[in-house]
Amino acid sequence: MPIYEFRCAGCPDFELILPMGTAPVVTACPTCQGDARRRITAPNISRTGSSAFQLIDAATRSAHEPTVVDSTKPGVRTGKTQRYTSNPLHQKLPRP
Ligand SMILES: [Zn+2]
Repeated sequence: MPIYEFRCAGCPDFELILPMGTAPVVTACPTCQGDARRRITAPNISRTGSSAFQLIDAATRSAHEPTVVDSTKPGVRTGKTQRYTSNPLHQKLPRP
């Protein structure tokens, strides 16, 4: 059930949990029994299942507990590697 927030003129705001669509515009304040009007507030929608939340959670977790791997990624060549580049533009780069 949704939480509805009410505001009394002389008291702190209070919340009531009511079935959807049954919240009155004006209700009795639990403190002073005066009129308290319903406030329009932003809905509290959870993002725990969204992909954005999962990405943030995975990034935070990997910062503290990196995933341990016991093999290389598939498709990565591990044998003979090319020591120098074959790109002719790399010949113009400054040498140490
Ligand atoms: Zn009140």
